[in-house]
Amino acid sequence: MSYSYEAPASQSLFDRASQVTPGGVNSPVRAFRAVGGTPRFMVSGTGPYLTDADGREYVDLVCSWGPMILGHAHPEVIAAVQEAVARGTSFGTPGEGEVALAEEIVARIAPVEQVRLVSSGTEATMSAIRLARGFTGRSKVVKFAGCYHGHVDALLAAAGSGVATFGLPDTPGVTGAQAGDTIVLPYNDLEAVQEAFHRHPGEIACVITEASPGNMGVVPPRPGFNQGLKDACAKNGALYISDEVMTGFRTSKAGWYGVDGVAPDLMTFGKVMGGGFPAAAFGGRADVMAHLAPAGPVYQAGTLSGNPIATAAGLAQLRLLDDAAYEKVDAVSREVQGLVADALAKEGVAHRLQNASNMFSVFFTDREVRDYEDAKRQESYRFTAFFHSMLAQGVYLPPSAFESWFVSTAHDERAVERIAAALPAAARAAAEATA
Ligand SMILES: *Cc1c(COP(=O)(O)O)cnc(C)c1O
Repeated sequence: MSYSYEAPASQSLFDRASQVTPGGVNSPVRAFRAVGGTPRFMVSGTGPYLTDADGREYVDLVCSWGPMILGHAHPEVIAAVQEAVARGTSFGTPGEGEVALAEEIVARIAPVEQVRLVSSGTEATMSAIRLARGFTGRSKVVKFAGCYHGHVDALLAAAGSGVATFGLPDTPGVTGAQAGDTIVLPYNDLEAVQEAFHRHPGEIACVITEASPGNMGVVPPRPGFNQGLKDACAKNGALYISDEVMTGFRTSKAGWYGVDGVAPDLMTFGKVMGGGFPAAAFGGRADVMAHLAPAGPVYQAGTLSGNPIATAAGLAQLRLLDDAAYEKVDAVSREVQGLVADALAKEGVAHRLQNASNMFSVFFTDREVRDYEDAKRQESYRFTAFFHSMLAQGVYLPPSAFESWFVSTAHDERAVERIAAALPAAARAAAEATA
């Protein structure tokens, strides 16, 4: 495939990056390998827009993979960061900011009685499963194919997006011992869960699931699925861990819990709660969290955990996320979804828009996508053509057919009009694409 536009400054940065960094990027999906072409190196962001090294502006539908729910460089978040940074950047002691952020999380999400702050979603899920194992004295972990929980060794089995994007069957470097206690089941399949508990009595420490998956594209739980997981765990003495790193503070004020009301034993958070900084968390039942050091024996720690700048940014962002903010994000999301569906329908392109409140993605198939196998059956070569047409017209989509799209409160009419203007040509490119 050839591209009708160039990005010489990004290309030159990518060449330099590739000399000193594997694949030229610090997180694989940024490298554009699934769609080809030169990854755009961004130099600034404001509201719904990003500007790349060549000076081209894009409407951003990635929002840093979710965190930037208020848009880029929101003045109140920036002010909170500037105020915090002037007081020093890290103390290695407790501070008030982390207390305030923890209080905000506990106030919003009823099942979270206590919370521990960490620096990435990966750390949050890694710590949550360690805690579940320590609490239950069991070793096995159930996860679902297509769900991504960060690059935790034990959870890098059938892990969706990054791995799906590259079609890697497995990850070298994860040993049989590390993955051997992981049971991978098809998503949305409660019978498979019952069967796993039946086959491994007294051995399963926890079931971890994305609250509503967004890492194989958006594949929401079928009605009753999360409740079924919770019930199966309760019946069998395992913990139900809901990974809300992506959905937390994004799909509602209380994340996906605020949508389906199923109370997990443990939950994990990241992305939105850091306001664009490295802040994440895991929390839940007080009796379970009491097993964590220094209160209990399960060790977990972090030099930069609860960092004052990250907590200031996260807190400022969460405080701005009131009901009106979510209504706005939901409305923009619905509008964009409608425009995408109309444009593809007009060109006769088989497609399915799926959403979890304001998170959404388009699958190039006409069938409902309920699990990872369904997701992989889409015509992702059509996405490639669609993606590059949008990019050339100044709309930045996730560079993979297996990712959620994200909007923000900053996506205003002007931004939506620019998306609308780009869609007809992109839909035509998708229609004309060949495998
Ligand atoms: C992004 C993500 C993670 C990993 O978070 P990082 O901060 O990238 O380590 C874990 N779980 C889910 C559901 C995610 O979307």
